[in-house]
Amino acid sequence: MPSNPLDRLTRSFTFRLSAGYAALFTFSAAILVGLLYFLLASALQRKDREIIEARLTECAAVYSSGGLGALQYLVQRSRDSAKEKSFFVRLSNPLNSVIFVAAPDDWYQTDTSALDQSVGQSRRELLVIPKDEKRDIMVESMRLGDGSVLQVARSTDDRKAILEPFRRSFLIVMTPTLLIGVLGGAFFAHRVTKPIREVAATARAILDTGNLSARVPASARRTDLEDMARQFNRVLDKNQALIQGMREALDNVAHDLRTPLTRLRGTAEVAVQATGDSAAREALADCVEETDRVLTMLTALMDITEAEVGMMKLNLEKTSVAELLKSVVGLYEFVAEEKKVNVTMDFPVWCEAMLDATRMRQAFANLLDNAIKYTPEGGKVEISGSVDLGEVIVKIHDTGMGIPPDEQPRIWERLYRGDKSRSQRGLGLGLSLVKAIIEAHHGTVSVQSQPAKGAEFTVKIPQGQLPR
Ligand code: ADP
Repeated sequence: MPSNPLDRLTRSFTFRLSAGYAALFTFSAAILVGLLYFLLASALQRKDREIIEARLTECAAVYSSGGLGALQYLVQRSRDSAKEKSFFVRLSNPLNSVIFVAAPDDWYQTDTSALDQSVGQSRRELLVIPKDEKRDIMVESMRLGDGSVLQVARSTDDRKAILEPFRRSFLIVMTPTLLIGVLGGAFFAHRVTKPIREVAATARAILDTGNLSARVPASARRTDLEDMARQFNRVLDKNQALIQGMREALDNVAHDLRTPLTRLRGTAEVAVQATGDSAAREALADCVEETDRVLTMLTALMDITEAEVGMMKLNLEKTSVAELLKSVVGLYEFVAEEKKVNVTMDFPVWCEAMLDATRMRQAFANLLDNAIKYTPEGGKVEISGSVDLGEVIVKIHDTGMGIPPDEQPRIWERLYRGDKSRSQRGLGLGLSLVKAIIEAHHGTVSVQSQPAKGAEFTVKIPQGQLPR
């Protein structure tokens, strides 16, 4: 899993969905606004062109019927009208020298030589001259019957004046559009992908805590993703039922094997005493030892089941946890010394709780046994404790081989043994029993560990109603 928050964000399905949605939304909004701009610009251009064409046709008709004088009169008369005085009119003879020209008042700085280009071969042509940055000119020319060229031009700056704010407001419109696109997209994507996150969280909870009863919260809606979550829950139900069935089968086998094995052990023990043959005696002693091993395993299995289903009979009494731990440490003194592991204890004497001392001793013994077993020579095991908010907290810390993160949720399972632990003695039942006993006392047990740096098991047990 990526740990960097940015990396996590960019890999998130919700983020990708909303980013894609926002990009699409922005792209289509940009196309829409662009199209609008284009349509508006071409409508304005068409309008300008129609106006110039009409004026050119009018001037050509006047010239054809009344000659230069009539044209001059028409242009002169139009100078009083605000709309019509905005036209540039120029008449050139076939040799291209100007016969008559009339320009609007504000054109005195405009270089009209650019308009010469428009005197082409065709009878009528249109030219848009962005002459200088300040002025756009549209010109239409017409070759008249006598070979002279009549030109009518007009500034199209007012079109620019209309389009410019449109262009500027494009950004102003796009910013909130983008914002709405991104936020709206993120909101919907987050809502729609909720079942995916819940399925992932449930799977993670099962893998991290081993709690097989975790389920995706039910939803009344019937979308595809919610259906996926429902089907995922059905698979989990089925798995849990299968695992439960396997456990029950194991318990039944354990239960049924205990009596014949005990009988077998008794018979072998009697035979050890009776036989004179040393080889047979050794073989029978091995039988007794192996039977003991299997019986311990069966007893542990039965104990775990009993504790888990709430059938373990607990003889709760006011117990000094420090005393109890001291007796457990005493039990392992010899083993620790032999392995050269230094066991220390720092525990307040007065700390007491309502416990079944025998069961709890068994639990702490398993934890200490593991700590010594999985710590190499010269290592340390520290037992420390405290009382906080009515809970006794015991920490058993070792400097051993530690537990890899992917194994940590599994160590509490029955018969589970870590990959690197197989060289050590053990049945893989110790921690299952610890957990079952502590939970039967309404406490919790957890582990924190880094491979090769050691492990720390934390046990929390409620003190319970202590008699005065
Ligand atoms: P085992 O009989 O294998 O010790 P447990 O149920 O007691 O079975 O422990 C399960 C697994 O948890 C062990 O096989 C080992 O991999 C791991 N484990 C338990 N305690 C420790 C510890 N103190 N340090 C390292 N690994 C541990």
